[in-house]
Amino acid sequence: MDSPTLPHRCWTELSADALRHNAAVAREQGGAEIMAVVKANAYGHGAVWAARILQDRVAMFGVANLQEAQELRLAGIEKPSFLLSPCLPEEWEPAVRMGCHISVSSLQEAIALDRLAQRTGVRALLHAVVDTGMGRIGFLEEAWDESSIAALSSLKFVSWEGINTHLPSADEDAAFTRAQLARFRQAVEKARAMGLRPKWIHSSNSAGLLGYEEQRGWCTLTRPGLMLYGISPLPEEQSRLKPVLTWKTRVTQVRELPAGHGVSYGCTYITERPTRVATLACGYADGYPRQVSGHGAQVLIGSTLCPLLGRVTMDQIMVDVTARSDAKPGDEVILIGAHGTSKITATEVAAWAETIEWHVFTGIGPRVPRVG
Ligand SMILES: *Cc1c(COP(=O)(O)O)cnc(C)c1O
Repeated sequence: MDSPTLPHRCWTELSADALRHNAAVAREQGGAEIMAVVKANAYGHGAVWAARILQDRVAMFGVANLQEAQELRLAGIEKPSFLLSPCLPEEWEPAVRMGCHISVSSLQEAIALDRLAQRTGVRALLHAVVDTGMGRIGFLEEAWDESSIAALSSLKFVSWEGINTHLPSADEDAAFTRAQLARFRQAVEKARAMGLRPKWIHSSNSAGLLGYEEQRGWCTLTRPGLMLYGISPLPEEQSRLKPVLTWKTRVTQVRELPAGHGVSYGCTYITERPTRVATLACGYADGYPRQVSGHGAQVLIGSTLCPLLGRVTMDQIMVDVTARSDAKPGDEVILIGAHGTSKITATEVAAWAETIEWHVFTGIGPRVPRVG
């Protein structure tokens, strides 16, 4: 934690209004209630911060694991948590006792949870996952047959709260995704016909929600993650969302380097002319991806785009401020965010690093204070 008497060197600023706006877009677009996905500390934005803002607007929260569910509970969040990943053996009992919604991938798992619920006297709240193509968890479609469904329905100490699937290619392959949604609908119909009729039917992550109308009307819940934080996995929908996070650092030093001088490890960048170089208080230990080095990365000082020079180091980066000759120690610098009409998006940083926005956000490190 930073001492309150010292300035922040590298920090994020968060917009509650933007988060509310994006949740409203998700609600409207899906025509269904929302499970706000706040796993991985709300994609680095702060899970408790996000959950407090969203708790009156969502049906439940999507978390990776029981620790994350406990963090929300300890912070006084009352809406249930849905565990997106399977529990470890020792975690099943505390998860049931906490009232977490649990993803179930097989009949054996469901039977074990039924016994656990009987023994503890606490009803287990379960969602059956049907694997329509993700290949990660869930019942294979072949295993989602009448005998399995009958066996699931007959369990006495569990409550079937949901049936769901996951879309691995909603931002890349529309034909595959449409076929998947159609098969998922059949899987839900099959269960319904046999009396397994949970309240929550859900399939859509951000890309599924923004790109596919197919789920409207029969899916009763959506699972947006990235879009809540203001980034659309589908570029054509980006203008509907507002980025929640601004990532800032400061200038620590400004120097004039002569032509022909190397900058940073490996001297991969050599100045071509006398160059005004600012050193910034941020590096890969803060989560600024080292992989952006040499790929055209830029930062914003005021509304001036300043190119990154050489490699990202652990705690410092260097940028060319020749075009911003008034830059001085203490000045704020934007790594991700906007100033006037200039901006740098998480999507650009991800492209420079040859990775995805989810990875950039979750990489922002614990040394970076989150300012609400
Ligand atoms: C992470 C996750 C989501 C949210 O995905 P986004 O692409 O960030 O919207 C939804 N469902 C499941 C099962 C997930 O693991």
